[in-house]
Amino acid sequence: QPILEIKDLHASIATKQILKGVNLTIKGGEIHAIMGPNGTGKSTLASVIMGHPDYTVDSGTVILNRQNVLAMTVDERARAGIFLAMQYPAAIPGVTNSDFLRTCMNVKRPDNPIGIFPFRAKLHQAVKDLEMNGDLPTRYLNEGFSGGEKKRNEILQMKLLEPSIVILDEIDSGLDIDALRIVGENICQMAKERGKEVAVLMITHYQRLLNCVPPDYVHVLMNGKVVKSGDRSLALRLENDGYEWLREEIGAEN
Ligand code: ADP
Ligand code: MG
Ligand code: MG
Repeated sequence: QPILEIKDLHASIATKQILKGVNLTIKGGEIHAIMGPNGTGKSTLASVIMGHPDYTVDSGTVILNRQNVLAMTVDERARAGIFLAMQYPAAIPGVTNSDFLRTCMNVKRPDNPIGIFPFRAKLHQAVKDLEMNGDLPTRYLNEGFSGGEKKRNEILQMKLLEPSIVILDEIDSGLDIDALRIVGENICQMAKERGKEVAVLMITHYQRLLNCVPPDYVHVLMNGKVVKSGDRSLALRLENDGYEWLREEIGAEN
């Protein structure tokens, strides 16, 4: 059962301090949501966990199963089971979706690479589950994909790679109603199938994703810190009342 422990994490970008002491623990079998106003460091937190080189960790720790994540390269983090669906997935012209996925899968199993036929069968099933276009595997990664196609493609990667820590940064943005339902169903199905083998952390602004994928815990990130944690009712309150009451509750320093 994976366990990711973030303690007193401070991080900055271009000398601007963004994370100011984040504490968060997520365990296999749990679904967490992070909400919070724009620009409070949600994507920064996701990027720092994944090891994006633009961010500097100033202090604090990120531990996965007693291993120091902050000492790992991005590749090592992926091999250790951390997966990030980015808010703005990048295109990689010249690399087909199918080759990319097969390479990523084999990175985790160097001694036993997946055969072409089992791989195609898995890919085909995942494309079907996500109701994606059949030509998708042969297209270049994210090149010319619509916003919604990119987000589905992130979920496709998640399904095939079977990570133990899944971080989804605004996976619901740019999805129409049907696509949101499909993406939500696939997240839930994965969480159900894999049980305690996977922990999910979803960053979102909207209740509608949380209706599809009910979280066990909801956290609010404000001004670089987790200022409140609760259950689903916290997300409902934020949807109804916004963040102002919380700003007042936590005091003027925030
Ligand atoms: P969120 O995901 O919560 O909306 P982000 O983590 O993306 O917020 O951004 C946190 C803050 O960092 C914002 O104020 C943003 O403007 C700032 N920021 C992001 N990237 C850069 C950058 N390259 N240089 C300077 N500031 C940045
Ligand atoms: Mg944002
Ligand atoms: Mg963001």
